[in-house]
Amino acid sequence: MVDGRVLLDGGAPLLPHMHRLGVDPGDIEVVFLTHFHGDHTLGLPPFVLHRVFVDRRPITFVGPSGVEEHLEKLWEVSWGPDWKRVMRPQFKARYVTAKASGTAVGVKYETVRLDHGTMGSTGYRIHVNGKVVAYSGDTEPTAPLDKLVDNADVAIVEATGPGDVFSHMSWEAAGKLRRRHPGTRFFFNHVYSGTVTGAVKDLQVVEV
Ligand SMILES: [Zn+2]
Ligand SMILES: [Zn+2]
Repeated sequence: MVDGRVLLDGGAPLLPHMHRLGVDPGDIEVVFLTHFHGDHTLGLPPFVLHRVFVDRRPITFVGPSGVEEHLEKLWEVSWGPDWKRVMRPQFKARYVTAKASGTAVGVKYETVRLDHGTMGSTGYRIHVNGKVVAYSGDTEPTAPLDKLVDNADVAIVEATGPGDVFSHMSWEAAGKLRRRHPGTRFFFNHVYSGTVTGAVKDLQVVEV
């Protein structure tokens, strides 16, 4: 989450995390989705329930092509026939297919298409309060990732595990990436077990 109003993917158990941090789930104005794998989307259904029953402020979902079809299917799988009958009419969501660059709810962004298995991942450079936050979702450490983090103030990038990590970035490659971009502050997430230098801690809050 960035600036209390921007959410980057939604895989974690969002609602309990937000409550623990004292964040109002109703304050989220825009969600940027990198891809539709479960560990990046399955925290969203309970969060959406909050936005249907507790706080009905409008919300925008920006994501790769098919974002509306994919998410509406996810809500329907999660909540059954009552989704369309009772919940959907109360849910003020707007879906936007991510472009090369654009603005969503006043948040300026650029995208970089990243290599991640057959699905790929849409990386975002998000402009908040004069700073650039680069966010990869999942990616192999290929050239587009360097383009994504280039000159960013902050980079939130996955570093899955040591050695050979299919379709993801290894800890070794993450270290090299950081050394190639010394002016960027890196936070590594998606760590599958153990720890790596620079990995973010659960529920860590960072001022930039
Ligand atoms: Zn993935
Ligand atoms: Zn993932």
